[in-house]
Amino acid sequence: MSDSTTATIATAASTVERLTAQGHLIGDSWTSSDSAGRYAHHDPATGRLQAEIALGGVAEVTAAVDAAIAAAPAWRAMPLEARAAILYRLADLLVEHDPGSALLNARDNGTPISAMRPGQYSASWVRYYAGWIDKIDGHVVPTSSGLDYVRPEPYGVIGAIVPWNGPMMGMGQKVAPALAAGNTVVAKPPEIAPFGALRFAELALEAGLPPGVLNVVTGGADAGQALVRDPRVGKVSFTGGHVTARAVMTAAAETLKPLALELGGKSANIIFPDADLDTAAFLSVLLGVGLLSGQGCALPTRLYVHDDVYDEVVDRLTAQAAGLSVGDPSDPKTFMGPVVNRSACERILGVIDRAKAEGAGTLLTGGQRLDGDLAGGYFIAPTIFGDVVHGSHLAANEVFGPVLSVLRFQSEDEVVAKANDSNFGLGAYLHTRDIGRAHRLVNRLEAGMVIVNGPPGMSPGAPFGGFKQSGFGREGGRWGIDEFLQQKNIFIAGS
Ligand code: NAD
Repeated sequence: MSDSTTATIATAASTVERLTAQGHLIGDSWTSSDSAGRYAHHDPATGRLQAEIALGGVAEVTAAVDAAIAAAPAWRAMPLEARAAILYRLADLLVEHDPGSALLNARDNGTPISAMRPGQYSASWVRYYAGWIDKIDGHVVPTSSGLDYVRPEPYGVIGAIVPWNGPMMGMGQKVAPALAAGNTVVAKPPEIAPFGALRFAELALEAGLPPGVLNVVTGGADAGQALVRDPRVGKVSFTGGHVTARAVMTAAAETLKPLALELGGKSANIIFPDADLDTAAFLSVLLGVGLLSGQGCALPTRLYVHDDVYDEVVDRLTAQAAGLSVGDPSDPKTFMGPVVNRSACERILGVIDRAKAEGAGTLLTGGQRLDGDLAGGYFIAPTIFGDVVHGSHLAANEVFGPVLSVLRFQSEDEVVAKANDSNFGLGAYLHTRDIGRAHRLVNRLEAGMVIVNGPPGMSPGAPFGGFKQSGFGREGGRWGIDEFLQQKNIFIAGS
């Protein structure tokens, strides 16, 4: 590792210390108030305790909503170009500090710096939505008796429950469009990985965002419930699992609060015999096992391979898995890091054990925690099960770990039926050189995004979200900003 990388790693450690000491951002103050207790945060790569994080609850969320309400009129009235200029400055700062944010992300949740650039990614969303600020237009309704028009308006205060697998990215995806639409925000990163969201807030203040426009309260279920139940919060955008989403919907029912839900998936990935098998196998392992150690909602973790090429694809898959560089997420040579914490590690190993005990498939590679130099951290070997039984627990459920299920198929109709036989519908992937087949499958697959012959585009201009129990609402593009706007109809008689 170069001297400059070593120096930046030391800076990331001191950033963790600073952010932990500062705590939540409420209005113009940082506070380490901890009405919901403290969380012991361990570095995922070493298992060493690195922070005792103050957890917010009702008291902190209520104060944050107070601050967001107080800041709302001035933010909404700010000239559009001034509001956009702040977001453009924030995007520049996110890019400028991206190396530090990547290393912070490695400490936050174990994501390798080579796999994700949270500052750059988040900046692309902030910049994209800054560009929308002067383009949110209304509509005139044709009528013969007056002037009838429609004006999009902000909700007021938005609650943004951002995920731990990309806390700074999640801020870009939720906070940027909410602010661009003229709302103020209370964001709630989880205690598991709060640092990227808190760093985003620091940079937002540095960019000139007025205090109170963005508030950040770190916490778990207590803070999440407080945010959803507060009647002054106009809408909540939630990212998480479908079980928690049910609790969120129940709490939202009290005040009939609108929600956007970005939930989990078990995305099907289909390889036809006419595909470029090298590329298909490479991407299937890169995305289905290695990237984020499988801790990504839309990753292709349920791989269907046509019988005619099954054996040769499986050979490629196991070779690819063996070649994945697993290790210290701060090292630029690493592609796959640890999973987020001890409990995730134990849960994933439990899923693997259950699959073995149930005979859900044949373990082709991996299946165990890594030892040696990596024994202190939460590292699980890249794991692939072959000949997985459709309908087994392993095939049907999100593992959220580096575990790929490979299943066989023989016909297009069969694989479409199996791919769609899922409660989830976030992503679907297919590999074929037959353009007619690609179009047929795009039409038939039940998923919010379908990716043909490649990795996802990840553009902030594209809508991202789920079908079925993968949620509702969209992040990205016009759809993403519409989530944070409500339509007011005005009729002026006789004009
Ligand atoms: P989770 O459902 O356990 O937690 C999500 C969030 O909800 C956290 O901030 C948590 O603190 C909060 N929370 C927990 N209990 C709550 C309650 N009772 N009321 C309100 N809030 C509560 O999910 P997780 O384990 O943190 O994340 C993994 C899940 O998130 C996976 O299913 C994954 O697929 C999904 N995810 C989806 C996307 C997407 O964009 N679709 C992105 C990342 C992760």
